[in-house]
Amino acid sequence: MKHVARKRFGQNFLTDKMVLSDIIDTIAPQRGETMVEIGPGLAAMTALLLKQLDQMHVVELDRDLVARLEKAYPREKLTVHSGDALKFDFGSIPVPEGQRLRIVGNLPYNISSPLLFHLAEFAPLVEDQHFMLQKEVVERMVAEPGTKAYGRLSVMLQWRYDMSLMFIVPPTAFDPPPRVDSAIVRMVPKREMLKCDGATLEKVVAKAFSQRRKVIRNCVAGMFTEAQLVEAGIDPGTRPEAVGLEQYVALANLL
Ligand code: SAH
Repeated sequence: MKHVARKRFGQNFLTDKMVLSDIIDTIAPQRGETMVEIGPGLAAMTALLLKQLDQMHVVELDRDLVARLEKAYPREKLTVHSGDALKFDFGSIPVPEGQRLRIVGNLPYNISSPLLFHLAEFAPLVEDQHFMLQKEVVERMVAEPGTKAYGRLSVMLQWRYDMSLMFIVPPTAFDPPPRVDSAIVRMVPKREMLKCDGATLEKVVAKAFSQRRKVIRNCVAGMFTEAQLVEAGIDPGTRPEAVGLEQYVALANLL
């Protein structure tokens, strides 16, 4: 029976064979690696990944799709975790000594930000992550200071990951087509992060970008003095989007 796409689960199934093959080439799975896919859906990517892997894990929320996947693949090839990726413990997947987990997925766009923040908790266990996301979101993730796209998502994720926009995917590659362009992003957890408490950095960055048209002195008033801004290497008269990651980290470390 044909599966009818469910909007509330953010279902846009990849159907373009060229795009699928470009994604698999970008991920470049190697036999023996441990991989988990978030939101496998009708297994468009899963099927191709399994050609190059002995076995893999998937996390899927839609129970109808879970049942299909369990029927289509033997257990020793595919471990299906039925549930919400936002609550999934990625540390529960067994990984051989000396290896790290690879995470992939054409993500449900309606939960992309919370999912990225949830995954950040597991960054030390992760080798890399390749995701299809809304193009605008990927542009914000990789944005440099001084650009319009640069903000909270850029700073928080660039603190933990090296990231690159790999390529753009048009709506026509999906069924049903989403309303926006998509892009593939590669995220590699930084092995040497700038030392900082994540929750404090998050608090500072949220405050700084709460009024992006104001100068930073006014944005963080009540949290930092002008002297502290200068101490962190920040010109108090500059706008929050001109302040780099190192400076935000220096500022957070003053708290
Ligand atoms: N990877 C497939 C499907 C993409 S659509 C493809 O490329 O064709 C997004 C998928 O994520 C759907 O299968 C949807 O059911 C699933 N999904 C949505 N929310 C989820 C969540 N919170 N946790 C896990 N999977 C989710």
